[in-house]
Amino acid sequence: MSLGLYLHIPYCLARCRYCDFYSRGGQKEVPDAYVDALAREMARWGNCDCTALRPDTLYFGGGTPSLLRPAQAARLVDQAAPAPEAEVTLEANPETVDPARLEGFRRAGINRLSLGVQTADDDSLARLGRPHTAAQSRQALAWARQVGFSNISGDIMLALPHYTREEFDRTLDLLAQGGCTHISAYLLKIEPGTAFARHTPEGLPDADAAAEFYLYAVEQLAAAGYRQYEISNFAKPGYEGRHNLLYWDCQDYLGLGPAAHSCMNRRRFYWPADTRAFVEGRSAPVQDGGCDGEDYIMLRLRLAAGLDEETLARRFGVRLTERQRAFWRRCQAAGYAAPGDGALRLTPAGMIIQNSILVELLG
Ligand code: SF4
Repeated sequence: MSLGLYLHIPYCLARCRYCDFYSRGGQKEVPDAYVDALAREMARWGNCDCTALRPDTLYFGGGTPSLLRPAQAARLVDQAAPAPEAEVTLEANPETVDPARLEGFRRAGINRLSLGVQTADDDSLARLGRPHTAAQSRQALAWARQVGFSNISGDIMLALPHYTREEFDRTLDLLAQGGCTHISAYLLKIEPGTAFARHTPEGLPDADAAAEFYLYAVEQLAAAGYRQYEISNFAKPGYEGRHNLLYWDCQDYLGLGPAAHSCMNRRRFYWPADTRAFVEGRSAPVQDGGCDGEDYIMLRLRLAAGLDEETLARRFGVRLTERQRAFWRRCQAAGYAAPGDGALRLTPAGMIIQNSILVELLG
């Protein structure tokens, strides 16, 4: 089994209107006390019998991890002691970086940058509450390449208010010209508890229009050389995100920090969303059930590589029933699943309605 280590950085300059991730806005930096708390928990897990902490991937997620000072990031990377060929990713927001900071992250051992670009349209960025412009994204990508990052992901959103194909084209152009080797493209969802849930923005595409934008994006990304390998993830050959691939293959991952989730030895747990309790050492992971064959089916069907039945049987002792096979043949006939008897794979049209397919498949 591989091990992924996730470190959550719950601080942001401002809260974006659509965001339901656990983080606090109005923060310009990450307190040393928080870095101390992450280091403390890493030491604790590194010493326990359940894992020899030598991660194959290390991921700084948030929140806005680029609010870390490079020295803080270096301290955490050193302590995590990732394996020699490990992928070490840091999520960054364009308005928080400059060449010196990016250079510092490189020296700290970060070898993959994930930049929150979202869109190339400044009006859209303002509507989303993002505190940066498209020009700042373009500049951040140029600096990242200048200081030597060659593995760069761009995070974007699709089906934004008043969205058009032209907005997507401009965004793809910004990322491709900026040297991105990987693109994550998520459909905007109005999540409970967000500013968008309290005041729904005007001009939101309906479900059919959103699905069309998604299919258009898949097509254009493929034409630009970004191969789809997961519902929302696209990469140039060899640049697939290794950390998230661990999640989708039910490998072990340990998340540290408030609201961070883990699955180790098929047991899930998470930290309560309480930064102060985490810093003060008053917080403990909450058990959240197990990971079984159904989880594996759900996660593998997110991937373009799909679900291999023999692996399902070997790892989880589960085989598809005749009812499930008959349903899958109907999905193939309708164009939602790829033809053939090999791995079970959804087509892009099937990926859009993956939830409904899973309800029927696993029901
Ligand atoms: S989208 Fe990112 S930057 Fe915006 S509030 Fe959420 S975590 Fe912070």
